[in-house]
Amino acid sequence: MATRTGADYVDGLRGDGREVWIGGERVQDVAGHPAFRGSLRGISGFFDWQHRHAADCIVADPVSGQSTGISHVIPRSAGDLERRHRGLERLARYSVGMLGRTPDYVNLTFAGFAGQPSVWSANGNEEGAGNLAAFQREVAEKDLALTHTIIHPTVDGRIAPYEGINGEVALRKVGESGEGIVVRGARILATLGPFADELAVYPGQPIPKDARDVALVFSIPLATPGLKIVCRDHYGLDAEAFDRPFSSRFDEQDAFVVFDDVEIPRHRVFLDGDPATYNAVMARGWTGNVMQQTCIRAMVKLEFAYELCCRMAEVLGQGRRPEVMQMLGEIWSYAALTRAAVRAAEADSHDFGDGAWFCDEAPFRAMRPTLPGWMPRVNEIITLIASHNLLATPSRAGLENPALRPWLERYLPGADGGGAEARSRLFRTAWDFVGSALGARTELYERYYLASAARTYALAHIAAQKDREWDQVPAFWAHLDGDGPCHG
Ligand SMILES: Cc1cc2nc3c(=O)[nH]c(=O)nc-3n(C[C@H](O)[C@H](O)[C@H](O)COP(=O)(O)OP(=O)(O)OC[C@H]3O[C@@H](n4cnc5c(N)ncnc54)[C@H](O)[C@@H]3O)c2cc1C
Repeated sequence: MATRTGADYVDGLRGDGREVWIGGERVQDVAGHPAFRGSLRGISGFFDWQHRHAADCIVADPVSGQSTGISHVIPRSAGDLERRHRGLERLARYSVGMLGRTPDYVNLTFAGFAGQPSVWSANGNEEGAGNLAAFQREVAEKDLALTHTIIHPTVDGRIAPYEGINGEVALRKVGESGEGIVVRGARILATLGPFADELAVYPGQPIPKDARDVALVFSIPLATPGLKIVCRDHYGLDAEAFDRPFSSRFDEQDAFVVFDDVEIPRHRVFLDGDPATYNAVMARGWTGNVMQQTCIRAMVKLEFAYELCCRMAEVLGQGRRPEVMQMLGEIWSYAALTRAAVRAAEADSHDFGDGAWFCDEAPFRAMRPTLPGWMPRVNEIITLIASHNLLATPSRAGLENPALRPWLERYLPGADGGGAEARSRLFRTAWDFVGSALGARTELYERYYLASAARTYALAHIAAQKDREWDQVPAFWAHLDGDGPCHG
């Protein structure tokens, strides 16, 4: 099999025995559970979307020649990145960027890992590197959907990350079995957790040099015995797309993951017990590779938000008010700057080693902490422009009720000449974007999914110091001093 359809994807989930918990209930079959109906419609729709837009999203696999999703291909040139951009932008349009964890995100990560064998095989890890390369081929050929957990939970912030209670909850190796290794502990936070085929565990933040037991990278099927997927409350609704355009299909469901002495088969272990390699694998190229996807998704979402706000301003007859125009220009600027950053990163793409070709990282290092500030501000602007209109939104059922419809047409038309239905649809879309339970969750996602802005601004500064020498200040003084005293 190469690229899957939505039906293929849902068939793959059916009754595989995975241990998913929602509220107090153990879900017997994710594919048949009523709470997840809308989400599965949304994710299976994503698989169908790649077929509908095959010219952008599907290519011939350079290795097998079979058709494959663009996100599985290891980029080897600037042309490959340009081609991938086209596919990623198309994929992001499926949910206008509201789905953060469409499978292309982790696919890019593994394509990037597999493209860097010299990093993974360091310190005698040739077997792990080989396992990883074989796994990436399997993901591409079966078109699997992956979730990932890269963060150790910290119970007590007063002590070091792997000491005391923090060490007890961290996911770590506790033994060997005949077939592989045994791991115990927990990790946060698997978005798409109950709906993925595989759970990948790889590094988030660096670990201490002696923390060998937590230096683990592997992937396992969600249905592996001992793996517990503990879902947050589900925010998806079994509602009409008109009423809840996002909540009716785009709740990608985050979950806390517990490993209760889970056996990881040897062929799925990519790294075991080597903190130096663990700390190295994210440092070479991950940002330049994966953030092409994350910034393209953000760009699509920002452009959508800009248009949404323009339309709301027109419907309210406020499009010419100076303060509204200022806010519209502000959102457009965020979108345009994001598009420019992606272009700049692609323009300066280069070989990162082993022939893997990724984007220049500097523009992405700047975008990583900046977008978590822009996204909540965009949500604020949506509420400022729309105000109470976000809540004067008759439902599809209300609009279809002949006793009510004439009153709605009379009292809730748009200033742009549109009727009550068009007006309601617009503000319902805006409310589901920012105000619904899913909208609030998505704002939290934008703030934290690539680590906090505080952490990543600091990382940007550290990288800038390594990038080049910063000597403009003394150079300027030297130039002034060389000019001699200034005579007026
Ligand atoms: C909706 C959602 C979905 C997610 N999905 C996934 C997923 O699929 N897979 C996954 O692995 N993870 C996922 N995450 C988790 C995400 O990776 C973490 O939330 C993220 O790394 C931030 O970690 P943290 O929450 O510990 O915050 P921290 O980075 O610890 O920051 C919390 C606060 O502490 C302060 N702070 C902490 N450390 C520093 C520092 N070094 N310097 C300065 N200030 C600091 C900051 O003020 C910050 O606001 C998800 C998170 C959310 C909210």
